[in-house]
Amino acid sequence: MAKRLACRDCHRIQETEETEACISCGSTSLTEDWAGYVVISHPEKSQVAAEMNVTDPGKYALKVR
Ligand SMILES: [Zn+2]
Repeated sequence: MAKRLACRDCHRIQETEETEACISCGSTSLTEDWAGYVVISHPEKSQVAAEMNVTDPGKYALKVR
């Protein structure tokens, strides 16, 4: 299974295997060192999204080192 990268800035998990910049915020600070994720499909209705400052639907890592 391919390792997915997560963004250190917004925690967004990248949809493609090989990427140089975050699909969400454009940051190039990506890491393989993350644990757990949450799928946010309706950020406007999600308390988790509010706590994580997420406004775009997608997968987000819970812990990013
Ligand atoms: Zn990002």
